[in-house]
Amino acid sequence: MNETASKKAILIVIDGLTPSVFEAAVDDGRAPALSFLAQHGQYARAVSTFPSLTPVCLSSLATGAHPDVHHIPHLVWYDRERERLVEYGSSFAALRAAGMARSILDAIINMNRLHLSRGAVTVYEALEDAGLTTAAINITCYRGRTRHLPTLRGVAIPAYGPRRFFFYNLFESDPTGAPLAVFGRAQGSIDGYAAAVGRWLVTRDGFDFLVYYLPDYDFASHVYGPDGAFEALARSDAAVGALLDAAGGPEEFLERYAVILCSDHGQTRVEGSAQLQSALANVPGTLVTASNRAGMIYRLPGCKLEARGLADLLEGDPAAETILFGEGDEVIARRDGEEVTVDRDAPLFDYPDGGARAWAAVRNPNAGDVVVSAAPGIEFADLAGRHHAGGGSHGSLRRGDSEVPMLAIGFDAVPESIVDVAPAVLRHFGVEPPSYARALSRAA
Ligand SMILES: [Zn+2]
Repeated sequence: MNETASKKAILIVIDGLTPSVFEAAVDDGRAPALSFLAQHGQYARAVSTFPSLTPVCLSSLATGAHPDVHHIPHLVWYDRERERLVEYGSSFAALRAAGMARSILDAIINMNRLHLSRGAVTVYEALEDAGLTTAAINITCYRGRTRHLPTLRGVAIPAYGPRRFFFYNLFESDPTGAPLAVFGRAQGSIDGYAAAVGRWLVTRDGFDFLVYYLPDYDFASHVYGPDGAFEALARSDAAVGALLDAAGGPEEFLERYAVILCSDHGQTRVEGSAQLQSALANVPGTLVTASNRAGMIYRLPGCKLEARGLADLLEGDPAAETILFGEGDEVIARRDGEEVTVDRDAPLFDYPDGGARAWAAVRNPNAGDVVVSAAPGIEFADLAGRHHAGGGSHGSLRRGDSEVPMLAIGFDAVPESIVDVAPAVLRHFGVEPPSYARALSRAA
């Protein structure tokens, strides 16, 4: 701990918000709370992880690690150890196809209890071990040390979260009087719930560090496209404004709290969809998990092809822009017929933080044997055949999917990547980041 007590801190995550939309919204005053924060902080564009999909990204935000360390590979993946598919919620239809009850269990409980690596340390664990109180609202990566029982009567599955833990009414560590928010994304309801809980927490000054996660914007952006979701951004802005009000006003808010505001990934417009599995239709012993703009191929028992052989089958597929696979100690990347060995400390093609992100995605033990980054404008259909063609999507290594707005107020520097956020928060409180975070280097 620092000699002088550190200012309390809040991490605000607006899911799927792109830098250009953020920059435009704070420029013309359409988002008053965000504009106020932007005027008082340092801002830069930062980079997400890969696949640039919410469960992967939120795990990176919470642990300061890429998937090689935190082990969450995708929205949908194959659990080799338990020999079954895991579906965190590519779409409601995909959830139904994979089994609704089990998917909710996977997304809420198992991701934190079973899938998130024990080798990764969450920001909640690290800060509470140092004697601080952490709080989380609605973020799906919440692993902490405090046992919480669901609010649903008759359901006895505990979740281990931060001391103050609020998750879509299913877990509520304190009675806040917030309105009901069913798990799902009925328009506007989730951020409204977050705002009510956030107001309660700020009014009581009930934490040292709070993660305030707002998912509604991403949902709207998928439907209307990345530049068509301003109405949803107004709701996110109102949810941020609720925190400022609860502190007694914007100036008072910044007197009390250091703030990082960012998104988890970007979004790009998609015009068409593709079935990644079509190239593998006649190959026994393979399983494809794909959704949004990333896909993976798993070798199952009976598969006679090595990863390289599977990658060969995708050669010439216009939907598969970059194909990645491991071979011995190396990670190989192919794009447009060119094959390179991925150097985690060097750029890869023209992707932001490309080498580090591609390497970490393939070196995740839960990833497929082949990992695919989609071509611009294309989305891979999910388990139920659903996609967002005509709207927005994300998941690839491409800049538009991968760049996030990053605003820091009361921190020494602006995090360059979402994996730098947790270490920045830990250092803010005088807590040493885990060794994997200290070792991370970043190529330009
Ligand atoms: Zn999304």
